[in-house]
Amino acid sequence: MKEFKSWKDYPIGGIISEPGSTLELDVSGWRNERPQIDQEKCIRCRICWIFCPDAAIIEEEKPYTTKTGKSYRLTYSVDYVHCKGCGICAQECPAKAIQMIPEV
Ligand code: SF4
Ligand code: SF4
Repeated sequence: MKEFKSWKDYPIGGIISEPGSTLELDVSGWRNERPQIDQEKCIRCRICWIFCPDAAIIEEEKPYTTKTGKSYRLTYSVDYVHCKGCGICAQECPAKAIQMIPEV
């Protein structure tokens, strides 16, 4: 007969034993809606980057020129592996450049 493990064989609950372990977590399955950034409307204010509780907004040194000729040095995008779809970024964006799209 297989022996049962004792409680002493299990790690203590509520403790993160490895720092940075959330980087390994894929939370995409939690989402009902995903944020989508309209690069034409985005004014590169960085507010979504600051407010995202999961550091799921990526700020890249990637130049972008809008159709009206405005040039930006940065581009903001979403890391969909670590975005849980809370919608804070869309709520806080002053340019209304982020839309929450239903997951399919
Ligand atoms: S929806 Fe929430 S988790 Fe996803 S990028 Fe926006 S603020 Fe971050
Ligand atoms: S908050 Fe909106 S306007 Fe500001 S960087 Fe993010 S997407 Fe762009």
